[in-house]
Amino acid sequence: EPPAFDQRLGHPKPLWMLFMTEFWERFAFYGIRWALVLYMVAQFHGGDAVGEAPSNRIYGAYLALVYAAAIFGGYVADRILGYQRSILLGAVIMAAGLFMISMPDEQIFKFGLATIICGNGLFKPNISTMVGKLYGVGDSRRDAGFTIFYMGINLGGFLAPILTGILAEQVFGTQAMPAYKYVFIASGIGMVLSLIWFWFGRRQLQGIGRPPEGDGGKQKVLYVFVGAMAAIPAVYFLLSMGAEPLNWYVLLPMFIILCILLLVEGIREGKVQRDKAIAMLIIFVFNILFWMFFEQAGSSFTFLADKIVDRDLFGPGGFVFPNAWFQSVNSLAIIAFAPVIAAIWIWMGRRNVEPSISRKFSLGLIFNGLAFLLLMIALSGMVNAVGKIPFWTLFMVYVIQSIGELCLSPIGLSMVTKLAPLRLVGFGMGGWFLSTGIGNNFSGIFAAAVSGETGMTVQSAHTGYTVGFWSLLAAGALLFLLAPLISKLMHGVK
Ligand code: GLN
Repeated sequence: EPPAFDQRLGHPKPLWMLFMTEFWERFAFYGIRWALVLYMVAQFHGGDAVGEAPSNRIYGAYLALVYAAAIFGGYVADRILGYQRSILLGAVIMAAGLFMISMPDEQIFKFGLATIICGNGLFKPNISTMVGKLYGVGDSRRDAGFTIFYMGINLGGFLAPILTGILAEQVFGTQAMPAYKYVFIASGIGMVLSLIWFWFGRRQLQGIGRPPEGDGGKQKVLYVFVGAMAAIPAVYFLLSMGAEPLNWYVLLPMFIILCILLLVEGIREGKVQRDKAIAMLIIFVFNILFWMFFEQAGSSFTFLADKIVDRDLFGPGGFVFPNAWFQSVNSLAIIAFAPVIAAIWIWMGRRNVEPSISRKFSLGLIFNGLAFLLLMIALSGMVNAVGKIPFWTLFMVYVIQSIGELCLSPIGLSMVTKLAPLRLVGFGMGGWFLSTGIGNNFSGIFAAAVSGETGMTVQSAHTGYTVGFWSLLAAGALLFLLAPLISKLMHGVK
Protein backbone atom coordinates (compact mmCIF):
# COMPACT_ATOMS: atom_id res chain seq x y z
CA GLU A 1 0.00 0.00 0.00
CA PRO A 2 1.31 3.47 -0.85
CA PRO A 3 1.98 6.10 1.83
CA ALA A 4 -0.72 8.71 2.45
CA PHE A 5 -0.01 11.20 -0.32
CA ASP A 6 -1.33 14.73 -0.52
CA GLN A 7 -4.04 14.87 -3.13
CA ARG A 8 -4.03 17.28 -6.05
CA LEU A 9 -6.93 17.53 -8.50
CA GLY A 10 -8.32 14.27 -7.24
CA HIS A 11 -5.12 12.24 -7.56
CA PRO A 12 -1.99 11.59 -5.49
CA LYS A 13 0.28 14.63 -5.85
CA PRO A 14 3.28 12.75 -7.36
CA LEU A 15 1.14 11.80 -10.38
CA TRP A 16 1.63 15.30 -11.73
CA MET A 17 5.39 15.11 -11.25
CA LEU A 18 5.50 11.78 -13.12
CA PHE A 19 3.23 13.34 -15.77
CA MET A 20 5.75 16.13 -16.41
CA THR A 21 8.77 13.82 -16.31
CA GLU A 22 7.16 11.58 -18.92
CA PHE A 23 5.97 14.60 -20.90
CA TRP A 24 9.57 15.76 -21.40
CA GLU A 25 10.84 12.26 -22.14
CA ARG A 26 8.17 11.75 -24.81
CA PHE A 27 8.91 15.25 -26.07
CA ALA A 28 12.48 14.07 -26.67
CA PHE A 29 11.39 10.75 -28.15
CA TYR A 30 8.83 12.17 -30.58
CA GLY A 31 10.89 15.29 -31.29
CA ILE A 32 13.40 13.20 -33.25
CA ARG A 33 11.05 10.52 -34.57
CA TRP A 34 9.86 12.28 -37.70
CA ALA A 35 13.38 13.47 -38.55
CA LEU A 36 15.31 10.20 -38.27
CA VAL A 37 14.73 8.64 -41.69
CA LEU A 38 14.83 12.01 -43.47
CA TYR A 39 18.14 12.78 -41.81
CA MET A 40 19.68 9.40 -42.61
CA VAL A 41 18.83 9.74 -46.30
CA ALA A 42 20.08 13.33 -46.44
CA GLN A 43 23.23 12.91 -44.43
CA PHE A 44 24.45 9.40 -45.15
CA HIS A 45 23.09 8.77 -48.65
CA GLY A 46 23.57 12.21 -50.17
CA GLY A 47 19.80 12.65 -50.42
CA ASP A 48 19.53 9.74 -52.87
CA ALA A 49 16.20 7.87 -52.73
CA VAL A 50 18.01 4.52 -52.75
CA GLY A 51 18.84 5.35 -49.15
CA GLU A 52 15.18 5.13 -48.17
CA ALA A 53 14.96 1.37 -47.82
CA PRO A 54 18.02 0.96 -45.55
CA SER A 55 16.99 3.99 -43.52
CA ASN A 56 13.49 2.56 -43.08
CA ARG A 57 14.97 -0.72 -41.93
CA ILE A 58 17.23 0.94 -39.37
CA TYR A 59 14.26 2.95 -38.17
CA GLY A 60 12.11 -0.18 -37.88
CA ALA A 61 14.83 -1.98 -35.95
CA TYR A 62 15.26 1.07 -33.70
CA LEU A 63 11.56 1.20 -32.84
CA ALA A 64 11.32 -2.52 -32.18
CA LEU A 65 14.47 -2.51 -30.01
CA VAL A 66 13.37 0.58 -28.06
CA TYR A 67 10.35 -1.35 -26.83
CA ALA A 68 12.23 -4.64 -26.45
CA ALA A 69 14.88 -3.03 -24.21
CA ALA A 70 12.13 -2.33 -21.70
CA ILE A 71 12.24 -5.90 -20.42
CA PHE A 72 15.84 -5.45 -19.28
CA GLY A 73 15.08 -2.08 -17.75
CA GLY A 74 12.09 -3.51 -15.91
CA TYR A 75 14.10 -6.41 -14.57
CA VAL A 76 16.94 -4.16 -13.40
CA ALA A 77 14.47 -2.00 -11.51
CA ASP A 78 12.70 -4.97 -9.87
CA ARG A 79 15.78 -6.78 -8.74
CA ILE A 80 18.74 -4.42 -8.55
CA LEU A 81 18.24 -0.67 -8.61
CA GLY A 82 14.65 0.07 -7.76
CA TYR A 83 12.51 2.23 -10.00
CA GLN A 84 13.78 5.66 -9.03
CA ARG A 85 17.43 5.01 -9.75
CA SER A 86 16.61 3.13 -12.95
CA ILE A 87 14.66 6.13 -14.19
CA LEU A 88 17.46 8.54 -13.31
CA LEU A 89 20.16 6.42 -14.91
CA GLY A 90 17.99 5.85 -17.98
CA ALA A 91 17.42 9.57 -18.34
CA VAL A 92 21.15 10.32 -18.23
CA ILE A 93 21.96 7.63 -20.80
CA MET A 94 19.11 8.63 -23.07
CA ALA A 95 20.13 12.29 -23.04
CA ALA A 96 23.71 11.27 -23.87
CA GLY A 97 22.41 9.27 -26.84
CA LEU A 98 20.40 12.21 -28.12
CA PHE A 99 23.43 14.46 -28.06
CA MET A 100 25.48 11.74 -29.77
CA ILE A 101 23.16 11.48 -32.76
CA SER A 102 23.62 15.17 -33.41
CA MET A 103 27.16 14.41 -34.58
CA PRO A 104 27.42 13.99 -38.35
CA ASP A 105 29.04 10.58 -38.48
CA GLU A 106 27.13 7.44 -39.42
CA GLN A 107 28.80 5.14 -36.88
CA ILE A 108 28.44 7.62 -34.03
CA PHE A 109 24.83 8.12 -35.12
CA LYS A 110 24.08 4.41 -34.84
CA PHE A 111 25.91 4.20 -31.53
CA GLY A 112 23.79 7.13 -30.40
CA LEU A 113 20.60 5.30 -31.37
CA ALA A 114 21.82 2.23 -29.49
CA THR A 115 22.48 4.46 -26.48
CA ILE A 116 18.96 5.93 -26.66
CA ILE A 117 17.56 2.39 -26.80
CA CYS A 118 19.43 1.34 -23.65
CA GLY A 119 18.50 4.53 -21.80
CA ASN A 120 14.88 4.28 -22.82
CA GLY A 121 14.76 0.67 -21.67
CA LEU A 122 15.73 1.79 -18.17
CA PHE A 123 13.33 4.71 -18.22
CA LYS A 124 10.06 3.99 -19.99
CA PRO A 125 8.68 0.86 -18.29
CA ASN A 126 9.69 2.06 -14.86
CA ILE A 127 8.07 5.44 -14.94
CA SER A 128 4.84 3.66 -15.93
CA THR A 129 5.24 1.22 -13.03
CA MET A 130 5.72 4.15 -10.64
CA VAL A 131 2.30 5.50 -11.62
CA GLY A 132 0.76 2.22 -10.53
CA LYS A 133 2.54 2.39 -7.17
CA LEU A 134 0.70 5.60 -6.28
CA TYR A 135 -2.60 3.76 -5.89
CA GLY A 136 -3.66 1.19 -3.34
CA VAL A 137 -4.81 -2.26 -4.41
CA GLY A 138 -8.51 -1.45 -4.55
CA ASP A 139 -8.22 2.21 -5.55
CA SER A 140 -10.73 2.77 -8.33
CA ARG A 141 -8.87 5.85 -9.59
CA ARG A 142 -5.97 3.80 -10.93
CA ASP A 143 -7.21 3.55 -14.55
CA ALA A 144 -8.09 7.25 -14.53
CA GLY A 145 -4.58 8.01 -13.23
CA PHE A 146 -3.06 6.09 -16.11
CA THR A 147 -5.32 7.89 -18.56
CA ILE A 148 -4.08 11.24 -17.25
CA PHE A 149 -0.50 9.99 -17.50
CA TYR A 150 -1.27 8.93 -21.08
CA MET A 151 -2.32 12.49 -21.83
CA GLY A 152 1.11 13.65 -20.69
CA ILE A 153 2.64 11.20 -23.15
CA ASN A 154 0.56 12.56 -25.98
CA LEU A 155 1.00 16.19 -25.06
CA GLY A 156 4.72 15.55 -25.58
CA GLY A 157 3.99 13.57 -28.73
CA PHE A 158 1.87 16.37 -30.13
CA LEU A 159 4.01 19.40 -29.28
CA ALA A 160 7.48 18.02 -29.98
CA PRO A 161 7.18 17.40 -33.75
CA ILE A 162 5.55 20.78 -34.23
CA LEU A 163 8.31 22.55 -32.35
CA THR A 164 11.25 20.65 -33.80
CA GLY A 165 9.61 20.82 -37.23
CA ILE A 166 9.47 24.59 -37.02
CA LEU A 167 13.01 24.65 -35.69
CA ALA A 168 14.25 22.62 -38.64
CA GLU A 169 12.37 24.41 -41.38
CA GLN A 170 12.10 28.00 -40.31
CA VAL A 171 15.03 28.82 -38.10
CA PHE A 172 17.94 26.85 -39.42
CA GLY A 173 17.21 26.54 -43.11
CA THR A 174 16.61 23.35 -45.01
CA GLN A 175 20.16 22.08 -45.36
CA ALA A 176 20.25 18.68 -43.73
CA MET A 177 23.01 18.98 -41.23
CA PRO A 178 22.50 22.22 -39.38
CA ALA A 179 18.73 21.74 -39.36
CA TYR A 180 18.61 18.20 -37.98
CA LYS A 181 21.49 18.79 -35.63
CA TYR A 182 19.39 21.29 -33.74
CA VAL A 183 16.36 19.00 -33.81
CA PHE A 184 18.42 16.37 -32.01
CA ILE A 185 19.95 18.86 -29.60
CA ALA A 186 16.52 20.30 -28.80
CA SER A 187 15.33 16.80 -27.98
CA GLY A 188 18.43 16.23 -25.85
CA ILE A 189 17.58 19.36 -23.90
CA GLY A 190 14.03 18.06 -23.44
CA MET A 191 15.49 14.89 -21.97
CA VAL A 192 17.69 16.88 -19.59
CA LEU A 193 14.56 18.73 -18.44
CA SER A 194 12.91 15.37 -17.79
CA LEU A 195 15.92 14.34 -15.71
CA ILE A 196 15.91 17.57 -13.70
CA TRP A 197 12.18 17.33 -13.13
CA PHE A 198 12.47 13.84 -11.71
CA TRP A 199 15.65 14.60 -9.76
CA PHE A 200 13.94 17.31 -7.74
CA GLY A 201 10.46 15.81 -7.87
CA ARG A 202 11.26 12.31 -6.60
CA ARG A 203 11.19 13.49 -2.96
CA GLN A 204 7.41 13.57 -3.32
CA LEU A 205 7.42 9.82 -3.82
CA GLN A 206 8.21 9.33 -0.13
CA GLY A 207 10.43 6.34 -0.70
CA ILE A 208 8.31 4.28 -3.10
CA GLY A 209 10.41 2.90 -5.91
CA ARG A 210 13.56 2.85 -3.79
CA PRO A 211 15.94 -0.14 -4.19
CA PRO A 212 14.37 -3.58 -3.57
CA GLU A 213 16.50 -4.79 -0.64
CA GLY A 214 17.34 -1.99 1.72
CA ASP A 215 19.57 0.64 0.24
CA GLY A 216 21.60 -1.71 -1.90
CA GLY A 217 24.53 0.64 -2.23
CA LYS A 218 25.51 3.14 -4.85
CA GLN A 219 27.88 0.55 -6.30
CA LYS A 220 24.97 -1.16 -7.93
CA VAL A 221 24.29 1.98 -9.95
CA LEU A 222 27.82 1.70 -11.21
CA TYR A 223 27.41 -1.99 -12.09
CA VAL A 224 24.23 -1.33 -14.02
CA PHE A 225 25.84 1.65 -15.74
CA VAL A 226 28.75 -0.52 -16.84
CA GLY A 227 26.30 -3.22 -17.91
CA ALA A 228 24.36 -0.72 -20.01
CA MET A 229 27.56 0.54 -21.61
CA ALA A 230 28.46 -3.03 -22.49
CA ALA A 231 25.02 -3.58 -23.99
CA ILE A 232 25.33 -0.60 -26.33
CA PRO A 233 27.71 -2.29 -28.83
CA ALA A 234 25.41 -5.34 -28.91
CA VAL A 235 22.42 -3.16 -29.67
CA TYR A 236 24.51 -1.30 -32.23
CA PHE A 237 25.20 -4.63 -33.90
CA LEU A 238 21.49 -5.54 -33.99
CA LEU A 239 20.67 -2.12 -35.41
CA SER A 240 23.27 -2.39 -38.12
CA MET A 241 22.01 -5.82 -39.12
CA GLY A 242 18.65 -4.12 -39.00
CA ALA A 243 16.67 -6.33 -41.37
CA GLU A 244 13.12 -7.07 -40.29
CA PRO A 245 13.54 -10.88 -40.15
CA LEU A 246 16.39 -10.45 -37.68
CA ASN A 247 14.13 -8.61 -35.28
CA TRP A 248 11.72 -11.46 -35.52
CA TYR A 249 14.31 -14.02 -34.56
CA VAL A 250 15.52 -11.90 -31.68
CA LEU A 251 12.22 -10.65 -30.31
CA LEU A 252 10.05 -13.74 -30.45
CA PRO A 253 12.35 -15.99 -28.38
CA MET A 254 12.75 -13.09 -25.95
CA PHE A 255 8.98 -12.94 -25.62
CA ILE A 256 8.69 -16.67 -25.00
CA ILE A 257 11.42 -16.60 -22.34
CA LEU A 258 9.72 -13.65 -20.72
CA CYS A 259 6.39 -15.48 -20.59
CA ILE A 260 8.05 -18.47 -18.96
CA LEU A 261 9.86 -16.35 -16.35
CA LEU A 262 6.69 -14.46 -15.44
CA LEU A 263 4.78 -17.69 -15.20
CA VAL A 264 7.40 -19.35 -13.00
CA GLU A 265 7.50 -16.37 -10.66
CA GLY A 266 3.69 -16.31 -10.64
CA ILE A 267 3.57 -19.98 -9.67
CA ARG A 268 6.08 -19.31 -6.90
CA GLU A 269 3.88 -16.57 -5.50
CA GLY A 270 0.85 -18.87 -5.28
CA LYS A 271 -2.21 -19.94 -7.24
CA VAL A 272 -3.84 -16.53 -7.45
CA GLN A 273 -0.70 -14.83 -8.75
CA ARG A 274 -0.24 -17.67 -11.22
CA ASP A 275 -3.73 -17.18 -12.64
CA LYS A 276 -3.19 -13.44 -12.85
CA ALA A 277 0.06 -13.94 -14.73
CA ILE A 278 -1.69 -16.25 -17.22
CA ALA A 279 -4.45 -13.69 -17.78
CA MET A 280 -1.88 -10.97 -18.37
CA LEU A 281 0.03 -13.07 -20.90
CA ILE A 282 -3.15 -13.82 -22.86
CA ILE A 283 -3.81 -10.09 -23.09
CA PHE A 284 -0.21 -9.51 -24.28
CA VAL A 285 -0.91 -11.69 -27.32
CA PHE A 286 -3.91 -9.56 -28.29
CA ASN A 287 -1.75 -6.49 -27.74
CA ILE A 288 0.64 -7.67 -30.47
CA LEU A 289 -2.27 -7.80 -32.90
CA PHE A 290 -3.52 -4.36 -31.95
CA TRP A 291 -0.20 -2.62 -32.66
CA MET A 292 0.45 -4.65 -35.78
CA PHE A 293 -2.52 -2.92 -37.41
CA PHE A 294 -2.44 0.33 -35.46
CA GLU A 295 1.09 1.11 -36.60
CA GLN A 296 -0.03 1.29 -40.22
CA ALA A 297 -0.46 4.89 -39.09
CA GLY A 298 3.24 5.59 -39.53
CA SER A 299 3.82 3.40 -42.57
CA SER A 300 1.19 2.31 -45.09
CA PHE A 301 -1.27 5.09 -44.13
CA THR A 302 1.45 7.58 -44.93
CA PHE A 303 1.70 6.25 -48.47
CA LEU A 304 -2.08 6.22 -48.63
CA ALA A 305 -2.12 9.88 -47.59
CA ASP A 306 0.54 10.65 -50.12
CA LYS A 307 -1.02 8.99 -53.14
CA ILE A 308 -4.66 8.08 -52.59
CA VAL A 309 -6.12 10.75 -50.29
CA ASP A 310 -7.41 14.05 -51.65
CA ARG A 311 -5.57 16.52 -49.43
CA ASP A 312 -6.62 19.68 -51.31
CA LEU A 313 -8.80 21.05 -48.57
CA PHE A 314 -10.35 23.96 -50.44
CA GLY A 315 -10.22 22.66 -53.99
CA PRO A 316 -7.29 22.86 -56.40
CA GLY A 317 -4.94 25.72 -55.56
CA GLY A 318 -6.22 25.88 -51.99
CA PHE A 319 -4.56 24.60 -48.83
CA VAL A 320 -2.92 21.21 -49.08
CA PHE A 321 -3.02 19.34 -45.76
CA PRO A 322 0.58 18.29 -45.05
CA ASN A 323 1.16 14.57 -44.95
CA ALA A 324 3.11 14.84 -41.69
CA TRP A 325 0.21 16.46 -39.84
CA PHE A 326 -1.76 13.22 -39.88
CA GLN A 327 0.69 12.02 -37.22
CA SER A 328 -0.43 14.78 -34.87
CA VAL A 329 -4.11 13.91 -35.35
CA ASN A 330 -3.51 10.83 -33.18
CA SER A 331 -2.02 12.72 -30.24
CA LEU A 332 -4.60 15.48 -30.53
CA ALA A 333 -7.46 12.98 -30.54
CA ILE A 334 -5.97 11.26 -27.48
CA ILE A 335 -5.78 14.53 -25.58
CA ALA A 336 -9.33 15.43 -26.61
CA PHE A 337 -10.94 12.07 -25.88
CA ALA A 338 -8.95 10.82 -22.88
CA PRO A 339 -11.04 12.77 -20.36
CA VAL A 340 -14.24 11.69 -22.11
CA ILE A 341 -13.34 8.01 -22.03
CA ALA A 342 -12.10 8.23 -18.42
CA ALA A 343 -15.40 9.88 -17.47
CA ILE A 344 -17.36 7.16 -19.26
CA TRP A 345 -15.56 4.44 -17.26
CA ILE A 346 -16.23 6.28 -14.01
CA TRP A 347 -19.87 6.85 -14.97
CA MET A 348 -20.31 3.19 -15.84
CA GLY A 349 -18.43 2.19 -12.70
CA ARG A 350 -20.94 4.04 -10.53
CA ARG A 351 -23.71 2.04 -12.14
CA ASN A 352 -21.73 -1.17 -11.76
CA VAL A 353 -21.61 -1.75 -15.50
CA GLU A 354 -17.97 -0.83 -16.16
CA PRO A 355 -16.54 -3.25 -18.75
CA SER A 356 -13.86 -5.66 -17.56
CA ILE A 357 -10.24 -5.24 -18.67
CA SER A 358 -10.68 -7.84 -21.40
CA ARG A 359 -13.84 -6.17 -22.64
CA LYS A 360 -12.09 -2.81 -22.82
CA PHE A 361 -9.34 -4.48 -24.81
CA SER A 362 -11.88 -6.08 -27.06
CA LEU A 363 -13.44 -2.64 -27.62
CA GLY A 364 -9.98 -1.33 -28.48
CA LEU A 365 -9.51 -4.02 -31.11
CA ILE A 366 -12.98 -3.43 -32.53
CA PHE A 367 -12.54 0.36 -32.79
CA ASN A 368 -9.23 -0.24 -34.50
CA GLY A 369 -11.11 -2.57 -36.85
CA LEU A 370 -13.80 0.05 -37.53
CA ALA A 371 -11.09 2.39 -38.76
CA PHE A 372 -10.15 -0.26 -41.32
CA LEU A 373 -13.82 -0.76 -42.21
CA LEU A 374 -14.09 2.94 -43.03
CA LEU A 375 -11.08 2.61 -45.33
CA MET A 376 -12.62 -0.45 -47.00
CA ILE A 377 -15.80 1.49 -47.71
CA ALA A 378 -13.91 4.55 -48.92
CA LEU A 379 -11.63 2.54 -51.19
CA SER A 380 -14.49 0.65 -52.78
CA GLY A 381 -17.16 3.33 -53.08
CA MET A 382 -15.71 6.84 -52.66
CA VAL A 383 -12.82 6.95 -55.10
CA ASN A 384 -13.12 10.07 -57.28
CA ALA A 385 -12.28 10.60 -60.95
CA VAL A 386 -8.55 11.03 -60.27
CA GLY A 387 -8.37 7.96 -58.04
CA LYS A 388 -8.53 9.61 -54.61
CA ILE A 389 -10.65 9.16 -51.50
CA PRO A 390 -11.99 12.11 -49.44
CA PHE A 391 -9.76 13.76 -46.87
CA TRP A 392 -12.20 13.26 -44.01
CA THR A 393 -12.06 9.49 -44.34
CA LEU A 394 -8.38 9.19 -43.42
CA PHE A 395 -8.74 11.93 -40.82
CA MET A 396 -11.53 9.94 -39.17
CA VAL A 397 -9.48 6.75 -39.45
CA TYR A 398 -6.87 8.36 -37.20
CA VAL A 399 -9.53 9.58 -34.77
CA ILE A 400 -11.28 6.18 -34.56
CA GLN A 401 -7.96 4.40 -34.07
CA SER A 402 -7.13 6.81 -31.25
CA ILE A 403 -10.38 5.95 -29.48
CA GLY A 404 -9.39 2.29 -29.79
CA GLU A 405 -5.94 3.13 -28.40
CA LEU A 406 -7.56 4.81 -25.40
CA CYS A 407 -9.65 1.72 -24.65
CA LEU A 408 -6.54 -0.41 -24.66
CA SER A 409 -3.19 1.26 -24.07
CA PRO A 410 -3.61 3.09 -20.73
CA ILE A 411 -5.71 0.16 -19.49
CA GLY A 412 -2.85 -2.16 -20.42
CA LEU A 413 -0.31 -0.16 -18.41
CA SER A 414 -2.66 -0.11 -15.46
CA MET A 415 -3.42 -3.82 -15.83
CA VAL A 416 0.25 -4.81 -15.63
CA THR A 417 0.61 -3.02 -12.29
CA LYS A 418 -2.34 -5.05 -11.00
CA LEU A 419 -1.60 -8.49 -12.43
CA ALA A 420 2.16 -8.99 -12.70
CA PRO A 421 3.86 -11.14 -10.06
CA LEU A 422 4.59 -8.85 -7.15
CA ARG A 423 8.35 -9.14 -7.38
CA LEU A 424 8.40 -8.65 -11.14
CA VAL A 425 6.10 -5.73 -11.88
CA GLY A 426 8.79 -3.84 -13.78
CA PHE A 427 9.64 -6.94 -15.78
CA GLY A 428 5.95 -7.41 -16.55
CA MET A 429 5.83 -3.82 -17.78
CA GLY A 430 8.83 -4.64 -19.95
CA GLY A 431 6.84 -7.55 -21.35
CA TRP A 432 3.98 -5.23 -22.21
CA PHE A 433 6.32 -3.02 -24.21
CA LEU A 434 8.04 -6.02 -25.77
CA SER A 435 4.69 -7.23 -27.10
CA THR A 436 4.19 -3.74 -28.52
CA GLY A 437 7.64 -3.98 -30.12
CA ILE A 438 6.74 -7.26 -31.78
CA GLY A 439 3.50 -5.73 -33.02
CA ASN A 440 5.46 -2.80 -34.49
CA ASN A 441 7.74 -5.24 -36.20
CA PHE A 442 4.82 -7.14 -37.77
CA SER A 443 3.25 -3.84 -38.76
CA GLY A 444 6.20 -3.15 -41.05
CA ILE A 445 5.90 -6.57 -42.64
CA PHE A 446 2.16 -6.09 -43.15
CA ALA A 447 2.67 -2.59 -44.58
CA ALA A 448 5.23 -3.95 -47.02
CA ALA A 449 2.68 -6.54 -48.15
CA VAL A 450 0.04 -3.85 -48.68
CA SER A 451 2.45 -1.91 -50.90
CA GLY A 452 3.66 -5.01 -52.73
CA GLU A 453 6.55 -4.86 -55.18
CA THR A 454 5.26 -1.93 -57.18
CA GLY A 455 3.79 0.39 -54.56
CA MET A 456 0.35 0.92 -53.15
CA THR A 457 -2.74 1.10 -55.36
CA VAL A 458 -6.42 1.53 -54.54
CA GLN A 459 -6.79 -2.18 -55.18
CA SER A 460 -3.89 -3.36 -53.00
CA ALA A 461 -4.91 -1.02 -50.20
CA HIS A 462 -8.48 -2.28 -50.35
CA THR A 463 -7.35 -5.91 -50.19
CA GLY A 464 -4.91 -5.29 -47.33
CA TYR A 465 -7.26 -3.23 -45.20
CA THR A 466 -10.02 -5.78 -45.68
CA VAL A 467 -7.70 -8.31 -44.07
CA GLY A 468 -7.05 -5.77 -41.31
CA PHE A 469 -10.75 -5.25 -40.64
CA TRP A 470 -11.64 -8.93 -40.44
CA SER A 471 -8.60 -9.82 -38.32
CA LEU A 472 -9.35 -7.11 -35.78
CA LEU A 473 -13.05 -7.88 -35.71
CA ALA A 474 -12.38 -11.58 -35.21
CA ALA A 475 -9.80 -10.92 -32.48
CA GLY A 476 -12.11 -8.43 -30.74
CA ALA A 477 -15.04 -10.86 -30.87
CA LEU A 478 -12.91 -13.72 -29.59
CA LEU A 479 -11.66 -11.66 -26.67
CA PHE A 480 -15.19 -10.50 -25.94
CA LEU A 481 -16.28 -14.13 -25.66
CA LEU A 482 -13.23 -15.14 -23.63
CA ALA A 483 -13.68 -12.20 -21.25
CA PRO A 484 -15.61 -14.03 -18.49
CA LEU A 485 -12.95 -16.74 -18.44
CA ILE A 486 -10.09 -14.23 -18.29
CA SER A 487 -11.88 -12.26 -15.60
CA LYS A 488 -12.02 -15.42 -13.52
CA LEU A 489 -8.24 -15.78 -13.88
CA MET A 490 -7.88 -12.18 -12.70
CA HIS A 491 -9.51 -13.00 -9.35
CA GLY A 492 -11.49 -9.84 -8.90
CA VAL A 493 -8.99 -7.44 -10.46
CA LYS A 494 -10.94 -4.98 -12.61
N1 GLN B 1 2.14 6.53 -27.90
C1 GLN B 1 2.33 5.85 -26.67
C2 GLN B 1 3.66 6.14 -26.06
O1 GLN B 1 4.51 6.73 -26.67
C3 GLN B 1 2.14 4.38 -26.84
C4 GLN B 1 3.23 3.73 -27.55
C5 GLN B 1 3.06 2.27 -27.58
O2 GLN B 1 2.79 1.60 -26.57
N2 GLN B 1 3.22 1.73 -28.75
O3 GLN B 1 3.90 5.77 -24.94
